[in-house]
Amino acid sequence: MLNRLETIKELFPKAQNFRLKQIECAVFDAAISGWEEVTTLPQADRQLLIEKVPWVSYRAAETFGDIEDDVIKALLTLSDDAKIETVLMRNRRGHWSVCVSTQVGCAMRCVFCATGKMGLKRNLTSDEIVDQLRFWQKYLLTNLGDEERITNVVYMGMGEPMNNYEAVKDSLNRILLNTEIGETRITVSTVGVLPRLDQILDDEDWPPVRLAISLHSAQNEVRKQLMPSSYDDFLPKLADWARRYNQKFGNRRHHLTFEYIMLAGVNDSSQAAEALADYVLKIDNVRVNLIPYNASGADYEGSSEETLERFMSVLEQRDVTVTVRRSQGQEIAAACGQLAGK
Ligand code: SF4
Repeated sequence: MLNRLETIKELFPKAQNFRLKQIECAVFDAAISGWEEVTTLPQADRQLLIEKVPWVSYRAAETFGDIEDDVIKALLTLSDDAKIETVLMRNRRGHWSVCVSTQVGCAMRCVFCATGKMGLKRNLTSDEIVDQLRFWQKYLLTNLGDEERITNVVYMGMGEPMNNYEAVKDSLNRILLNTEIGETRITVSTVGVLPRLDQILDDEDWPPVRLAISLHSAQNEVRKQLMPSSYDDFLPKLADWARRYNQKFGNRRHHLTFEYIMLAGVNDSSQAAEALADYVLKIDNVRVNLIPYNASGADYEGSSEETLERFMSVLEQRDVTVTVRRSQGQEIAAACGQLAGK
């Protein structure tokens, strides 16, 4: 499907590159609310754009939560009535991050995830992905003024980004080109779709943004139970891929992250922590990010604080670099694993 800029190129076949850049730049300017305000364009061109190209790819937006609480969720209704969720969060240092969705629903069916229960409805277009960021840019400007900036984008909302590879890649390149957000401030999270991860290693158009692999267990049977998309030789194949990734991109700026959601009695034993340390230490240049799980009404319980600390100390004693993600947004169903287009 053509993205907004490609549609504009068809509308103005003789337009020079600088003009097209000007248009895309205006699209990402939160102070501009529609084609009629893009005054760098002649009036006739603006009129044609108003008639032919929607300014945003969603037709309605509803927000949940209070900006004072540092996390707010939006439900966007797309042109075909599909609904997606996107989240704006402020971290302890005061920096704003946006979590974007890449699909309506998801085919991967991870058992702890509300999106997985929906099944896959469709892929999002590149416009529908970047417009989630644009929505929050406008929201921040309207609510907090022009001092506040979004500094990070995480592709961790609804959907598996690697199953929508081309649109995700296009959206990444457009964000990098038209905003101040840099490569190391963008993280794409994946369950580890190995053919696509292999593609990244040879794809010159794939930008060197950070990758986070949702590991959730270094024990094969447990991982298969949590993530039905996993299979018997997934873990050795992922380790092999990660070593090749490190050869190509590995440095302090481009370490890999393994995400690990902490589920009580499922993957949080000392034995599970040892297995994780064994696995990670075979790869090198990998960080582990432990994610507290707090989804209310879900089939799984999150690990206790005490268990999380014990798990973390096993990893630290083995010299694994480990962090704990601060969990935000449970009250508005915006935390990890809770996004379900409701
Ligand atoms: S955790 Fe991610 S990949 Fe797994 S079902 Fe949910 S959205 Fe899909």
